Amino acid sequence: MLRSILSRSLALSLLLAAPVASAGTWTIEHVTLIDGTGGPSKPDMTVVVDGTRIVAVGPASVSTPKGRRIDGRGKYLMPGIMDVHIHLRGASDAKTPDGRPVIDEDAARAALASFLYSGITTVVDVGNQPENILKMRSDERAGRILSPRIFATGNLITYPGSHGDFMAVRIADYEKDKPLLEKHLAEQQPDILKITYDEEGWGARPMITLMPAELMQQIIRFYNLHGIRTTVHVSSERRSLEAIFAGADTLAHPVIQGPVSDSFVKLMAARKTPFATTLTIGENYSRLVEHPEYLDQPLYVASFSGAERQILKTETRAAWQKRTWTWWMKVMTPICEENIAKIVAAGGVAALGTDQSSGPATQREMELLAQAGIKPSEIIRIATLNGAVFLGKERDMGTVSEGKIADLLLLNADPTVDINNAKNIALVMKGGDMIDESKLPLAGGTQKRRWPVGADEPGTRAR
Ligand SMILES: [Zn+2]
Repeated sequence: MLRSILSRSLALSLLLAAPVASAGTWTIEHVTLIDGTGGPSKPDMTVVVDGTRIVAVGPASVSTPKGRRIDGRGKYLMPGIMDVHIHLRGASDAKTPDGRPVIDEDAARAALASFLYSGITTVVDVGNQPENILKMRSDERAGRILSPRIFATGNLITYPGSHGDFMAVRIADYEKDKPLLEKHLAEQQPDILKITYDEEGWGARPMITLMPAELMQQIIRFYNLHGIRTTVHVSSERRSLEAIFAGADTLAHPVIQGPVSDSFVKLMAARKTPFATTLTIGENYSRLVEHPEYLDQPLYVASFSGAERQILKTETRAAWQKRTWTWWMKVMTPICEENIAKIVAAGGVAALGTDQSSGPATQREMELLAQAGIKPSEIIRIATLNGAVFLGKERDMGTVSEGKIADLLLLNADPTVDINNAKNIALVMKGGDMIDESKLPLAGGTQKRRWPVGADEPGTRAR
């Protein structure tokens, strides 16, 4: 589902010179390790990071520390969280006089900061204005902004008149429209392709035109032959099946339109097609109406301006209270949770996705997975390793193991006891860089650095 994103005042701000420090060598000692595979936690472990990668993981008793030392006693180390379904803020329907979309870069950078602040080190944007997301992706890759890793589809692909048509490349005929796919590939260099395939039947919405399954198959084949994986927006069991048999590598949503059949659960366990969980997007409407006080939690206070939280609590809340959509989604959320839990229990591959654009929403997704009855260690796998599997990048990301990129989250409390402890963050590391929270351009204002300078040993110099 696409969110229309409010345009805010466009403040052109100068980019600060590279705020990302170069990676060093670190040893995290005597830490309890939750490696992301879903297996049991390992006490008293040592993890060595050299440059951007993890170079050693082993029992503290046999590991040789290198570089600066972080005392991990009483702390819990897990991989950085991955959100495989976002639509980054900053895009809008407004146009400049010369017809270019108005992009609120400050809003985009603040949202990216909010992910990092909340422990999310990778986001996958599956549909946005290319002017917004591709600029941020290149800034992130060049180290110009403090941001999680960004993987992006750029424009999504759809059939004319279908779901998300307003920000899509519209393909009606494969041979005739192939140059549009070639242009999308060359100009936007998608990390993953997103197709929408849905009558927009969620709740009481009208039937709309749908991409023929054969055309979807041709498009998927085209991108796969260029080495690019695909994700397909679906919301019903029937369309999910059709997308899988058309060759979809992943699904952008779980089934939400009704309870899944036993045979669908078996298929998802057998095929292991990863799907994004996206519970939060549907649940957030009734949550705001019934529990607006959630906006006073620390991660929300840091991630949103006071003015925006006030608007959410008043105008937005009143509008959502009146919409039948809010209450339909409230009814369907437990059904969707049960669908996800059944597939996970059978051995299918759920990957954390929110369909939103803030770090606290990603954390909320983990709470809803817990509400679905999934145990915390499995939720952590869904939020880490399975995200890497979704992207096809599990060789480089998703677990704390030797050779992988050092995207790490150090916690003050055990998230395998209570998933809410994943919010109790001691430090966030991205590619071997310790994130300094005081430098994040958060909409809620400057926050304190959580891991004090010099708290690592021997701590000869601050960076
Ligand atoms: Zn979406």
